[in-house]
Amino acid sequence: MYENTLEISSKQIPYFRTQDFSNIMLKCQEQFLRFVNAPKPSYLAVMTASGTGAMETAVMNALNEKDKVLVIDGGGFGHRFSELCTHHHVLHDDIHLSFGEALTREHLIPYENKGYTALLVNADETSTGQLYDLQMLGDFCTEQNMLFIVDAVSAFLVDEIDMQKMHIDLVLTASQKALALAPGLSFIVVNERMKKIIDNNECACTYLDLKDAFKNMERGQTPYTPAVGIVLQLADRLNQIDQIGVDKVIDQAKANAQYFRMRCDEIGLKYGQYPLSNALTPLLFDNGKAYDYFLEAKDHYGLMLTPNGGALSGSVLRVGHMGNLTTKDYDAVIAFFKEVLE
Ligand SMILES: *Cc1c(COP(=O)(O)O)cnc(C)c1O
Repeated sequence: MYENTLEISSKQIPYFRTQDFSNIMLKCQEQFLRFVNAPKPSYLAVMTASGTGAMETAVMNALNEKDKVLVIDGGGFGHRFSELCTHHHVLHDDIHLSFGEALTREHLIPYENKGYTALLVNADETSTGQLYDLQMLGDFCTEQNMLFIVDAVSAFLVDEIDMQKMHIDLVLTASQKALALAPGLSFIVVNERMKKIIDNNECACTYLDLKDAFKNMERGQTPYTPAVGIVLQLADRLNQIDQIGVDKVIDQAKANAQYFRMRCDEIGLKYGQYPLSNALTPLLFDNGKAYDYFLEAKDHYGLMLTPNGGALSGSVLRVGHMGNLTTKDYDAVIAFFKEVLE
């Protein structure tokens, strides 16, 4: 997290049904829409829920039992979309990718002209670090007249997200990844076509009903008490990003990712060779010790890397490029691996 964010999080939380707070929220909306190049008009919903809450909100509000949905299931987060569709009785077919398999246009050919109504994808499948080709997927959706729903929880601010260019109808993200805020808030941006669909859909959940969220946001409010403290962190961080420029913020993440991968090459550390997001670098180990390195780095080196669960826990360890990180941090990670791999 950035120093500013930490400072704000030590302050009192104000009462929020005020014009002052509404003004903060409305400014956040204006910035958010601009940062994803949303067409005019577009709408932001601020949800007090983690990223999965926003994924479920998207499935419950944008889709119904009349839809037939295509899900890119290339890891833990893609699989979550698939499970959410099952849970909410949304018909779906999943494109399964095995670990390391890159998604290509060829994967979509069997699904052309079969009556699919929407595509669900995680821009960056965070469990593997694969960055999908959103332009290719968005063009496919346009061709096939499908809604394009993008989970950009880990891609927002590290990889390009352009709603207009990539034909995205709904994009969602959360507070605790590249925004580098406390966990607890998530965000959904929709274009006019998606808003109309949502307005005509029944949502089975009162708390996650986007109709209510968008209606309240007209005056800069939420239906229920939001995580006010994180909204204040957000307002500050969005201002900071605005000053730097969103493209430059993405370039910084890219520079960090490239620097770290260059240093990995120097010492022969292996990482995924499929299209990679700037969000993280997935280190690959064939000695089965990935999780041991995670514990060792955390307990003895003050370095917090991200382990994988399940079948990949011995072979994959992820190094993040989101938030307040610099080349010094990566030098420390490299020094750590030089030591433990000797
Ligand atoms: C982190 C993440 C989420 C959200 O996970 P939560 O734990 O619910 O915040 C969703 N999708 C992707 C791609 C993520 O990286």
